[in-house]
Amino acid sequence: MATNYREQERRIFESGEHVINFEISYIKNEKQYWNIVTKVPLRDSEGQITGLIGVNRDITERKAIEDNLLAERTLLRTLIEAIPDAIYLKDTEGRFLLANRTCWLSEGFSSMEALIGKTDFDFIEPERAKMHREEERQIIETGEPLINAVMRYINREEAASFVMITKVPLYDTNGERVGIIGINRDINENIRNEIQMSYQSTLVKNISDAVISTDLSFSILGWNPGAEKLYGWKAEEVIGKKVNDLIPIKQSLQSVQAMREMLETTGSWSGEVIHPRKDGSEVDIFSSVSLVYDNEGIPVGSVGINHDITEQKVAEKQRLELAVERERVGILRRFIGDMSHDLRNPLATIKVSLYLLHRLVDNPDRRTYHLGTLELQINRLENMVNDLLSMANLDSEASEFIFIEVDLSQTVYEVVTHQESLAARREQKLTFEAEKDLPPVRCDEGMLIRALTNLVANALNYTPVGGEVSVHVLRQEENIHIRIRDTGIGIDPADLPHIFERFYRADKARSTDTGGTGLGLSITQRIIEAHDGEITVESEPGQGSTFTIILPSIQPG
Ligand code: ADP
Repeated sequence: MATNYREQERRIFESGEHVINFEISYIKNEKQYWNIVTKVPLRDSEGQITGLIGVNRDITERKAIEDNLLAERTLLRTLIEAIPDAIYLKDTEGRFLLANRTCWLSEGFSSMEALIGKTDFDFIEPERAKMHREEERQIIETGEPLINAVMRYINREEAASFVMITKVPLYDTNGERVGIIGINRDINENIRNEIQMSYQSTLVKNISDAVISTDLSFSILGWNPGAEKLYGWKAEEVIGKKVNDLIPIKQSLQSVQAMREMLETTGSWSGEVIHPRKDGSEVDIFSSVSLVYDNEGIPVGSVGINHDITEQKVAEKQRLELAVERERVGILRRFIGDMSHDLRNPLATIKVSLYLLHRLVDNPDRRTYHLGTLELQINRLENMVNDLLSMANLDSEASEFIFIEVDLSQTVYEVVTHQESLAARREQKLTFEAEKDLPPVRCDEGMLIRALTNLVANALNYTPVGGEVSVHVLRQEENIHIRIRDTGIGIDPADLPHIFERFYRADKARSTDTGGTGLGLSITQRIIEAHDGEITVESEPGQGSTFTIILPSIQPG
């Protein structure tokens, strides 16, 4: 600075130029100071410069104030320019004095200068301009500001547009009102959001489905009238409760877990569930749950739409029942056809035998023969009727089992003994074997005898003359197994899955021959199931079959 000073003074000496109000700064004790300097040359009587007069005034303080002001103004300017609202100043005549970028751009100008000096009448439709003008005149007159007034107008694209307007009076330094300061905010987005939200809330309110919103921990936030109607709880009773405590899914815990996992990985889940209602009843629901995300895509909660599918379920059940009923009618029809055939055969034989008996009164041998045939056919008829009755009884709700503690080996032995005459007639070897000290079982002995008799008789009937049938009672862990093995004709693998069905006869000719109705095995199976038991079959055509009855034994203690 010293050189500057000297250089300046040298120039004053040489050229005689004046330095007037020259601002100069210097640093002293690490602080900046400002001086305003005026220097004029001092001349002698001949006009020669002999020295100079200098006046220095310290303006450090004034300079600081000026700098602050400038900084403030720059800040204000930047702020006003950056704001997305349109900000403008107008004089008492409605002429634009200042406008920020948003303002002149939104009004369709290329710069602020292009807008300055214009009034609304120069660029917007007269109606609206007049309205603004009137509004502003009143503000200037009364000093009353206009705060957040929402205005709707039709924009250049002929669409409804919304602005929120604030206008306050503009004062000069004397406190006179000399115009207005205006701020226009574009609220189209807010309005659109509001409209959308009102649509959505109307939808949620009026939809007949239950709409349930929750936070991320599945605490209920929203419970629409549909949910109130479907479940019976009012919104105020359930808000804040955990969804799964209120309406637990009547399924295993694992599936709730699976549902949550699916929701987390894919963002949505849907499926059929059964939910409880407030009154304790249950309702079939089709539920669609989706995660709800914030603007950053982070999940914040969930919304579930639950639709009552009771009616669908009932219709579905009815359809199913109808199909089953049709199937049953079909089976019954086939059965009646088969049965009438089966019944007609012994009846025809009986008729012929009776006719011959009448005619052969003199021939005792022939009479005996025909009486034998009569007895056989009547037995067959009796068998059929008995099987039908048994099945009908087992089908009826009234069918009752009387369970007692039974020593199985004894019961099975009796059944085998009873069948010995049949085996002898067919020249078959019928053997019985039972493990010692078998634990007792709880059973309806009469029913069990019936089931066992069916199996042993089948084994004998479906095994050729000279074959073998063995019956074995043994213990397998906590169960008793009764195994009936034959060396008979066996069962074709195609028939095997059906032999327990009613009226199913794999070998029809043979079954008819032996008086079979196709009901024996289904009767047997029903009886065993009533004992909490099981019946299995293994068979190879030409080799024989093994039927096994598995019954739970009574455990000591
Ligand atoms: P059915 O009165 O005709 O014997 P079942 O219900 O007792 O009727 O048996 C159904 C069918 O299973 C029989 O018609 C027969 O074809 C077959 N079946 C049952 N037991 C045996 C067996 N031990 N060996 C071969 N076939 C068998």
